[in-house]
Amino acid sequence: MTLSNGELGELLRAAAAEEQDHRRRALERAAGAVRSWPEEARDLADADRSLTELRAVGPWVAARIHAWLDDPPPVPEPDETRRGYLALAEVHGVLDADPSWAAAPCADLQMHTTFSDGRLPLEEMVELARAMGRPFVAVTDHSQTLKIAHGMTPEELATQGRAIDGMNEVFVANGEPFRVLRSIEVDAFADGSLDMDEASLARLDLVLAAFHSQLRVTEDSTDRYLATLRNPGMHVLAHPKARMYGRRVGLVADWRRVFAEAAALGVAIELDATPARQDLNVELATIARGEGVRWFSIGSDAHAAAELGALPFGLATAALAGIPRERILNFQPVETVVSWARELRETRR
Ligand SMILES: [Zn+2]
Repeated sequence: MTLSNGELGELLRAAAAEEQDHRRRALERAAGAVRSWPEEARDLADADRSLTELRAVGPWVAARIHAWLDDPPPVPEPDETRRGYLALAEVHGVLDADPSWAAAPCADLQMHTTFSDGRLPLEEMVELARAMGRPFVAVTDHSQTLKIAHGMTPEELATQGRAIDGMNEVFVANGEPFRVLRSIEVDAFADGSLDMDEASLARLDLVLAAFHSQLRVTEDSTDRYLATLRNPGMHVLAHPKARMYGRRVGLVADWRRVFAEAAALGVAIELDATPARQDLNVELATIARGEGVRWFSIGSDAHAAAELGALPFGLATAALAGIPRERILNFQPVETVVSWARELRETRR
């Protein structure tokens, strides 16, 4: 029996609570860093490499970890807000075991720009994603009700759409296959209505709908999900559970019913790859696959340059949930995604 980085994180957290001052801070720093360690600590130890290669690990913390690896103690149950998250080393392990995942060109179907709460202008964000080898991307800024994220008005959405059309014209003229989809992460209200007029949404290539308010209610939210899925203006239910690592468990629902409805309607379900979201997680993604959801959509949900690198968390989730690439929009040709969304809109109208 060997400990994973995630388990070491819980041990470090518990050990920190037993210490004072600088020792406590050292353990807390290491506990905060484990999820971004690129390799399993146990693999470094097995290879006689120093654990101080890992971020936030000094010699004293390394000695503590070695002692746990040599003689694993019981691991405390993580807090509810930290359950069901993959650590980076685990993501690498899953994708290394089946290199076909990383080898296949994969689009990024959620990212933000300065049109809402992203840090980079549209052109820069898109160029970075293109340079990473993404075959196409969806730009999914927020809608106006999300004031905290400077959401877009219909006019701003139209302006962004024209800018994207201009970028695609240049790609076409240059014989470059890369494309940018006009998209949005539109707020979905409790009654299933969306925070953007139908005509504006109808001009987009892909519409992601998401909940951003009343995310801490503990009552069952199944009706809210069903109402949103039934809105013919949307294509993808984004970060469905709306959870956040260490902060929020997200919404509660009869997930089988929610996913069965998505399957019946032909609506896509997102695997949000932001490490602190991982929404759906492996458990719910497995249920969604089992209920027959036809299409999954993976997005980095990047708000800054470095966050564009989060996509592997979504790929590892799909791999662990047994979702084949044939059921993931990101791995289809861009024309297939656009025509799928158009047909879905027309058949639901
Ligand atoms: Zn969101």
